[in-house]
Amino acid sequence: MIRPFMRFPEGRERALTLSYDDAVHQDKKLIDIMNRHGIKGTFNVNTGNPYWRGEGGGHHFCIREMKEWYLDNGHEVAVHAVSHPFLEQLPTASALMEVLEDRRNLEQELGIIVRGMAYPMGTTDDELVEALGHSGIAYARTIVSTGRFDVPTDWLRMPATCHHNDPRLMELWEQFMAPYANSRKTPRLFYLWGHAYEFDNNDNWDVIEKFCETAGGHDEVWYATNIEVYDYVQAYERLQWSVDMKRVYNPSVIPVWFYATEWPSNTTGCYVVRPGETLELK
Ligand SMILES: [Zn+2]
Repeated sequence: MIRPFMRFPEGRERALTLSYDDAVHQDKKLIDIMNRHGIKGTFNVNTGNPYWRGEGGGHHFCIREMKEWYLDNGHEVAVHAVSHPFLEQLPTASALMEVLEDRRNLEQELGIIVRGMAYPMGTTDDELVEALGHSGIAYARTIVSTGRFDVPTDWLRMPATCHHNDPRLMELWEQFMAPYANSRKTPRLFYLWGHAYEFDNNDNWDVIEKFCETAGGHDEVWYATNIEVYDYVQAYERLQWSVDMKRVYNPSVIPVWFYATEWPSNTTGCYVVRPGETLELK
């Protein structure tokens, strides 16, 4: 019987994604750094900020700047609620309106479909999570730092690996890249979050410069936005297996990779199942 383990695109074992909030003008500098090193991320936007429909050049991004900086550079735009409230403290209907109105504003003005979200202040509760499950939001990021590289399972309470101010940042990256005992099995996701204005406030742009310089440009790392990671994991989970696991069908439009060990022979291999393909495993 084979034992499969998800691999990211091209059979990669690792993925990196960033998540930055509030659509502040410092995102320009951050995106310049990310782009230089081929790093992708998600930017979470409050469409209630007074700059939203403005001319640009303010403290926050206007619509035109979002297109130019986020979308044209291949990054993701996601919901952060219209007015940045503590959502779980609002009546659920009003919290949902904050989310859906933000989603609709972004979709209408940017001409995209928005399914990602970061909770303002990172806070949520069970009732809100349940409501979000009916709002078309696929994942929502908290501000919980795990110091780990697990691929998320509870997508509406999604934690991060760490914030960029975490003193362990570079040490965590080293751990992430190091081979370890079960490296042939478990895929790893490094998830970094923060606000770009913090680099000005703390005068520490060197932290993200150094991180991106170190983290970028590795063939064995998939650089993806949050929703790309989500969609890929969903495609993997939707693979249809024969009960003896000798045949696998990919009904999605995304090529899916997995690594497999065969028990008891212990032979191993990395496989790809193309969209619409049924793969026969020997
Ligand atoms: Zn925020």
